Amino acid sequence: MIPLKVSDLKQYAYCPRVVYYQYLMPVEKKTTFKMDYGKIEEARIDKLESRRKLKRYGISEGERIFHHWISSQRLGLSGKLDLLIKTEKEYFPVDFKFTDGKPQRNHVYQLCGYALILDDVHQTKVTKGFVYLIPKDDAVIFELSDPLKQDAVKMINDIREMIGTERMPPVVENRNKCYDCEYRNYCGDVF
Ligand code: SF4
Repeated sequence: MIPLKVSDLKQYAYCPRVVYYQYLMPVEKKTTFKMDYGKIEEARIDKLESRRKLKRYGISEGERIFHHWISSQRLGLSGKLDLLIKTEKEYFPVDFKFTDGKPQRNHVYQLCGYALILDDVHQTKVTKGFVYLIPKDDAVIFELSDPLKQDAVKMINDIREMIGTERMPPVVENRNKCYDCEYRNYCGDVF
């Protein structure tokens, strides 16, 4: 089984070609600014937990594990969680984003990937995940439903098929995504 990363789900949901390039045509990407926000996370998470909308999940009593590697042999999937909150009853994956913008569909699939691994490894059922928007000090909660998880499993299978057949996916439907794409120089058919 081809081992995959949770971040592949996020990127595949953004544009399947990004994952194609990463696995089948490793190319030099445009460098992008990456902020080292490791240090500010722990201070800010306290604020996050005090927010009323999150209190009801009891996450302030939960154990927090930052930068947590998780992996499922059965799924052939692994990834590094920004934060895992573990309460008496539930596990909550949390992903940190250094952006003001609303989290998109691809971020939800990333959370789903973490949820699938946690479900498998801990024999649990993760039902919610959070995207924490660092500049806004706010968190967006996502329901991680069974149909969404099934979509994520299908996506995992599709990625493996794409890699196995080495078939390049078509250009992404929403061409606006191409403007900021690290791989734009390699997609000659985009504009
Ligand atoms: S330039 Fe557009 S089609 Fe090409 S990889 Fe990026 S988002 Fe996908």
